[in-house]
Amino acid sequence: MIKQKMLTPEEAQQIVLEHIRPIGIERVPLLDSLDRLVAEDILATYDNPPFDNSAMDGFAVRHQDVKTSTPDSPSSLEMVEDIPAGSIGQKTVGPGQTSRIMTGAPIPSGADTVIRVEDTRTEDNRIDILEPDDFAANIRRSGEDMKQGEVLIESGTELGPGELGVIAAVQRSFVSVHRRPTATILSTGDELVEIDEPLQPGKIVNSNTASLAALASAHGANPVMLPIAPDDEGKIRQTIESALSGDFILSSGGVSVGEFDFIKSVLNNMGAKEILWRVAMKPGKPLYYCIINETPYFGLPGNPVSSVMSFLQFVRPAIRKASGYRPKELFLPTATACMENGEENDGDRRQYLRARLHYKNGQLRAQTRYRAQGSHMLTSMLGANGIVVLDPEQSVASGDLVNVQIIGKVL
Ligand code: AMP
Ligand code: MG
Repeated sequence: MIKQKMLTPEEAQQIVLEHIRPIGIERVPLLDSLDRLVAEDILATYDNPPFDNSAMDGFAVRHQDVKTSTPDSPSSLEMVEDIPAGSIGQKTVGPGQTSRIMTGAPIPSGADTVIRVEDTRTEDNRIDILEPDDFAANIRRSGEDMKQGEVLIESGTELGPGELGVIAAVQRSFVSVHRRPTATILSTGDELVEIDEPLQPGKIVNSNTASLAALASAHGANPVMLPIAPDDEGKIRQTIESALSGDFILSSGGVSVGEFDFIKSVLNNMGAKEILWRVAMKPGKPLYYCIINETPYFGLPGNPVSSVMSFLQFVRPAIRKASGYRPKELFLPTATACMENGEENDGDRRQYLRARLHYKNGQLRAQTRYRAQGSHMLTSMLGANGIVVLDPEQSVASGDLVNVQIIGKVL
């Protein structure tokens, strides 16, 4: 048998992505669009602010009248009206006059400057200006925030609270966003019991379904969890058939070379088009990827850490491409970090080590020895907000710089 060269993670990522298409858009209420990718340009529908208005509580004046004011020799002005926010002044501010104006209220005609209330003194119906300000001070100009017709948010932008505020300001209560794909998740194995079933001898708890569902949710998909499929070709087939209406199918287990690893043969019999199997990475080598009924199917490894790593390297970019992210936005963000302990990759596959990242004196640091590594070591995922990536034969000492991928919040 010819030993096939295994695909590198980058090759496998490209091959996976070649088979992913954006899945479409939907209109959602504004608040539901948070963290989603907008699928239309958002335009300013009017100039904002809509009118020149006061930036301060104070007095609208003619600068000419007050420019020489000092505390000892204030300019004394006649107060002609009050202009609260939300109403329009009825009077023109003439020479020697002023209108009291609140923050946000329209500047009355005749006035060209606002003097802060702190720089004035009220004497009966007269206002003493103690301190002049610059000409046109404390006036927010019409249109200085947004101009009618201007593209404020480009299609394809991820919407955060700032974007939602702007969309609200242009009076949009619904917005078009890219649809979140569904990811149907199934775990296979005769050894598995569900989390609320008694743990019989020889059995282990199915933790992968929950962790993959959480990953799917966290990375932009809506998870649908199916019951455990035992290592039985008929049962596996039934389970996969029930998943075909979703956008993605993720299974864990049963894709290695074991006697009871049936996933590949079942999919083959169902007419799936095999795209790739096995990637030169550790953990996560036995990845299987195929298209069944036009649905991308990821056969993730069974080992809990392997399935998480494969998800992050391959499923996450696929979810993001299907959700409309641009090519540069598909992969995990990367950085350089200073190792806090040594590590050695003595194998011939790229290694992905769970890491805790933090900043110390402004420098990003990585710790990989807080728990034992190992593809079955669920607890190595605890608090892991990064992945240290080591090339084959690469060893690093404490203090060395390494490439890291960022998978969680770094504080
Ligand atoms: P497999 O790829 O099916 O040979 O599984 C590899 C290893 O992962 C075995 O030790 C399995 O018991 C374990 N495993 C498989 N599926 C799960 C799961 N859903 N939750 C936890 N561990 C699993
Ligand atoms: Mg198995």
